[in-house]
Amino acid sequence: MKSLEQLVRPNIWALKPYSCARDEYKGKNASVFLDANESPYNNPLNRYPDPLQEDLKKQIAHIKGVVPEKIFLGNGSDEAIDLAYRIFCIPGRDNAVSIAPSYGMYKVCADINNVEFRTVELEEDFSLNAEKLLNAVSVNTKMIFLCSPNNPSGNSLDKAEIEKILLQFDGIVILDEAYSDFSAQESFRHRLEEFPNIIILNTMSKAWGCAAIRLGMAFASEQIIALFNKVKYPYNVNLLTQKKAMEMLQRPGDVERWVNTILNERESLMEAFAYLPCCEEVYPTDANFFLAKMTDATQIYNYLVNCGVVTRNRTTQPLCRNCIRITIGTPDENNALLAALRKYKN
Ligand SMILES: *Cc1c(COP(=O)(O)O)cnc(C)c1O
Repeated sequence: MKSLEQLVRPNIWALKPYSCARDEYKGKNASVFLDANESPYNNPLNRYPDPLQEDLKKQIAHIKGVVPEKIFLGNGSDEAIDLAYRIFCIPGRDNAVSIAPSYGMYKVCADINNVEFRTVELEEDFSLNAEKLLNAVSVNTKMIFLCSPNNPSGNSLDKAEIEKILLQFDGIVILDEAYSDFSAQESFRHRLEEFPNIIILNTMSKAWGCAAIRLGMAFASEQIIALFNKVKYPYNVNLLTQKKAMEMLQRPGDVERWVNTILNERESLMEAFAYLPCCEEVYPTDANFFLAKMTDATQIYNYLVNCGVVTRNRTTQPLCRNCIRITIGTPDENNALLAALRKYKN
């Protein structure tokens, strides 16, 4: 790995961050706060929230097994993706490399930041070939994006291939584990010491059932997390989100139950799909969705919309011709999908 100073944009390396009132005051004894031009009237949201979300990070640290200093929290994982471009990639010069197909935000954030985005197709079975990916790297490649389990294919990437990339690439590897709560594969977040160039993304939007509160997390070395903290908006996670997240993190039993139900439902739904005349292939998955190759994805997608069931048509994505992506719903919702497809005439 190159040194962080070589990887970070010079303006970001030199940046003196905004120092907010609550950053400057760290003592514990004060009870009169006349420092931040807030309203004194507690409505009860009159005070700025903790810019570093310390209470919430303590809980996340406990559940995820990562110390608070190695955690960044943001307005969805999307914030962490955008910040990574702004920290590491010089617009108009540097580039990022990603697998394809994968999550659309990697490219959108690259485009917004005027950073060249290179993609390397996965194999036909959506597996990762590290060597092929590394061949797309140039001297100006700052970041590689991996996603495991991958969206939209659903499969986990091979651990040994991910390790090859972590060891052989001299820049930053962003490993998006948004769906790791559904997978039995071991997370890379327990190996931060071994791989100083890794940034792992997690979110409360999927297994934790909190897409609406917008809470994403990144796990990385203290040095990388310090860069995220320097560049982020001072109060990037609002108080309502911090509170709701802490409430949810105290209910791990509920989440475990939801995940188990979803995994059982996934198994029966995939089995039923294999018998549908309009389905040609069901791809293996470690996530709360699966990809299915249909006889005609666009026609079936439109037919389902007319039946009131919305799926995701992925037919234009690399390697996904005639594929639709199906999120596992409640048993009733999954039955509605199946009932509609059983009435579909090819
Ligand atoms: C859903 C998803 C996310 C979640 O993004 P948030 O901004 O945290 O809601 C991240 N990565 C992938 C691959 C996803 O599919």
